[in-house]
Amino acid sequence: MAHRRCMHSMKKTLYFFLSTLRNVLDPLCNFREVGVLCYHSIGAAAAETTISSSAFAAQLAYLHARGHAFVSLAAVAGWMRGEQELPQKAVALTFDDGYRDFLTTALPILERLRAPATVFVVGDAEASRAQLGNKVPLLSSADIRHLRLHPLVEVGYHSLAHADVSQLHGDALVAACAPRHGARLFAYPGGVYSSEAIGLLPKLGYRAACSIKRDLVAPGADPYMIPRHVVLRSMSAREVAARMTQASRWYRACTSWVRRRA
Ligand SMILES: [Zn+2]
Repeated sequence: MAHRRCMHSMKKTLYFFLSTLRNVLDPLCNFREVGVLCYHSIGAAAAETTISSSAFAAQLAYLHARGHAFVSLAAVAGWMRGEQELPQKAVALTFDDGYRDFLTTALPILERLRAPATVFVVGDAEASRAQLGNKVPLLSSADIRHLRLHPLVEVGYHSLAHADVSQLHGDALVAACAPRHGARLFAYPGGVYSSEAIGLLPKLGYRAACSIKRDLVAPGADPYMIPRHVVLRSMSAREVAARMTQASRWYRACTSWVRRRA
């Protein structure tokens, strides 16, 4: 336990050092930083992936104050394809599973900052319940219809029943991924995917798909494997913002170097 606590504080110190270094170098280097955040529920539950409304608002305010521009995920996918420009520091916000608190709690905060967002809904709420492992209410069909008309919101798809799509093949994979609610964007449940799924999604009409690989987005990378940083309850606003910078890349390089030598 003490060892784990020690590792945890060492990691925090490394992240703090790297983000300070990035802040010093950024005025000289003006890093190109495009990132995607993955939220789940915004509310009061004690789950690791549930963020309180005040913490969520503080994270967005912090990103905004640090000069990050909020852009849509569709714009990020367009930029990856070389079809459009993005600000030098851009963050896209995504919300997995389609919890109802996206509409009631997150959206008013997004509206205040005019921040676009993509919410990834499941096709069959009842069948998804066992996979999600919580009782947080999900968006109804009427909610989804309402959200589709909202100028800041894009409704994406998160599969029919939140199954691991890397384990599905052929017709079963098509049935799990076939778009509903006019979705053009997909998020792999649990972030896991297969080459079969990556090959299928464009044929089903999707423009892009998201994993939860912790990385910034690179121009020219595959838009069917967009990396995202999952936001956890334990993260401070500063930590969330650091993940949208070059510091997160350096951090990953350092930790994988340490792991290789261990
Ligand atoms: Zn999910």
